[in-house]
Amino acid sequence: MAKFISPPILSRRFGRSLGIDLSPDEKQCNFDCLYCELRGAKTVEIIQNPPSVEGVIKELAEALRKFPDIDVITLTANGEPTLYPHLKELVGEINKLKGGKKLLILSNGSRIYDKNVQEALLGIDIVKLSLDSAVPNTFKKLDRPHKSVNLEQMIEGMREFSGVFKNELVLEILVVENFNDTRDDFILLNAIINLVKPARVDISTIDRPSAYKVKAVSYDTLEILSREIKNTPTLIAKREEGGKSASNLSEEEILRLLKMRPQSERDVQNLLDDESQKRLERLLEEGKITKISAANVLFYKLC
Ligand code: SF4
Repeated sequence: MAKFISPPILSRRFGRSLGIDLSPDEKQCNFDCLYCELRGAKTVEIIQNPPSVEGVIKELAEALRKFPDIDVITLTANGEPTLYPHLKELVGEINKLKGGKKLLILSNGSRIYDKNVQEALLGIDIVKLSLDSAVPNTFKKLDRPHKSVNLEQMIEGMREFSGVFKNELVLEILVVENFNDTRDDFILLNAIINLVKPARVDISTIDRPSAYKVKAVSYDTLEILSREIKNTPTLIAKREEGGKSASNLSEEEILRLLKMRPQSERDVQNLLDDESQKRLERLLEEGKITKISAANVLFYKLC
């Protein structure tokens, strides 16, 4: 049985994904986020007893034969994958194997300032970094980082990396009630996002049992906060039950909606009724709006 490869899952944000877990036995992370789906654990600076590159690649080759239809290979860990000491070598070997699939990494962003990590990540197709708060005190309380992590250095590293990265960078903000759920938090985050310039911003909240007692915010709160992200396609990763009922919007209203911010295909399916979706397609045919891809998600936006 494969130790480092998880069976494919359908990720709404990235497509059909085959996971590589670089710390299958225990949580090894330099954060201990209040909302973590794994049990709380002491933070670490490096993955101890890391799997060998050969071992991971052998299992991956087998899994790719068994599951040829996946969209992405996702580098993750029971913790933080950039703490894996052979990351650059592993990325190089995966790239030799992956064919037309994309390679994705889900990172908390803490080590992006490190030149070795940047070098390894340059070989990846989609890099997802987290940034829950730009307020040092909130970041510290919510993500509970190892003492070696420095928020300012992290943000500067994201900006620097984005300047040299040729593929797709996604920033993720996870919102927790009474921690990072105010307009002011998002105004500040928007300023950072304008510096970092990711292809897409994902906003989500807790939707599974968490390590510590913290609460999710409502879908409406995510929607309101997302309006502060002004210049970047934003995807709200919402819980199924949180969706709104579809509305009937005129062409003018649809254009106004897209002026506010680009809307993903899924947002459109949730927000617009059948008739309005036909209007949207007409606007597309007429060249008044366009469709762009940001890290495997399609968005409608104004031309
Ligand atoms: S960064 Fe991810 S794995 Fe690490 S504690 Fe936070 S949620 Fe858990």
